Amino acid sequence: MALTETQQSWREVARDFAKRKIEPATEWLEGEKFWANAKNLANHGFLGLTLPEEYGGMNLALFDALLMIEELCRVCPTSGRHAYHASMGIASFINTLGTEEQKQKYLTKVTSGELFIALGMSEPEAGSAATDMKTSAVDEGDYYRLNGSKVFISDAHLADVFVVYARFGNSGRTSDIGAILVERDTPGFTVGPDEENMSGEIQCTLYFEDAIVPKKNVLATNNAFKKLMGVYNGVRLGYLAQTMGITQAAFDRTIEHVKQRKQFGKEICEFQGVQWMISNMYVQLEAARTLLYRAGEAASDNKPDKNAVSVAKIFVAEAAQEITDTCIQLHGGYGFSKQYPLEWYYRCVRSASIAGGTLQVHKTMLAASVLERKFNQRK
Ligand SMILES: Cc1cc2nc3c(=O)[nH]c(=O)nc-3n(C[C@H](O)[C@H](O)[C@H](O)COP(=O)(O)OP(=O)(O)OC[C@H]3O[C@@H](n4cnc5c(N)ncnc54)[C@H](O)[C@@H]3O)c2cc1C
Repeated sequence: MALTETQQSWREVARDFAKRKIEPATEWLEGEKFWANAKNLANHGFLGLTLPEEYGGMNLALFDALLMIEELCRVCPTSGRHAYHASMGIASFINTLGTEEQKQKYLTKVTSGELFIALGMSEPEAGSAATDMKTSAVDEGDYYRLNGSKVFISDAHLADVFVVYARFGNSGRTSDIGAILVERDTPGFTVGPDEENMSGEIQCTLYFEDAIVPKKNVLATNNAFKKLMGVYNGVRLGYLAQTMGITQAAFDRTIEHVKQRKQFGKEICEFQGVQWMISNMYVQLEAARTLLYRAGEAASDNKPDKNAVSVAKIFVAEAAQEITDTCIQLHGGYGFSKQYPLEWYYRCVRSASIAGGTLQVHKTMLAASVLERKFNQRK
């Protein structure tokens, strides 16, 4: 897909920054390294790519930001992930739905690299069936009283603020669902211990036990689920740009490897069997990237189109898994070894089929749209 000159130049800006100003990384950055990296990203304008300038953002189109995130992830996945969180990711809930006071208070700190926000949607009994969530927000006059729990919350150990989905009414319908901002030191709110996932990322469980949250922290109350999921589609696209960048990194290393690794007296890229594997991966990369960019382009006013997101998600997630698997294969024993990053890339991209809604759920949503039917998932 042809990029405009502006799009190419933003991609070049990110590529150049990644090359000159970020340490290549083959693990997630944590602790002091994470915050030092955040400062570096903030100082060069990479936190808040799509956020308005008045909050320290760059006010870029979502598509431009996707290109930049992909480039950062190619060198340092933490940098790309942070850039997307602080742009069309979790920060966009506040940018799209928040009050002026919330934007001033939180977004300015997101773009300066001082504040990280996490998202609490999934619950122990409500993963794919997100609308079955039980966490309640009961109106108590000046504040809401929250009870419930959230699971698999990425980067909760780093976050000081959480976008939390909850039920603001008791009709049992989707229309009860809204979202509220919960600060880490809120009475009655606890972040559970670190839980390491397959790629080495930290996720935590969140507990709300009569948590007292001021009313001014509300993002959206009743009838907000569709709006919230509209914002969440941006989060999904950011995650896919991250996945593309990591997959490209695995591919880049594999090209280098097959050109220098010799067996039977010649470089292994001389074997036709290897060449066909390279070509297949290249075709998958090109097709995945085209669908991701198409979804970025289809985002009018930075609001992604849900079908375009599902199409990209299904293809990118499956291609990433297959490509990184082939990259391991082409590295032989070195690919399987923890001394080399190939197995980490593979573990990183595996999550794209689950996080942000599983592929099965996206396929069902897409089929419903294609067939113009509403599929009831319940008995
Ligand atoms: C790396 C990672 C990061 C995450 N980060 C966050 C986060 O920051 N915040 C957050 O709130 N959540 C987060 N999640 C949670 C994620 O959103 C859920 O894991 C996901 O929605 C699936 O829910 P579940 O795990 O409960 O699986 P389940 O819903 O129990 O699904 C299990 C299996 O059943 C299948 N299935 C379920 N229903 C159907 C159906 N109707 N048709 C066909 N198949 C079906 C699924 O596709 C899946 O294969 C994260 C998950 C991962 C892996």
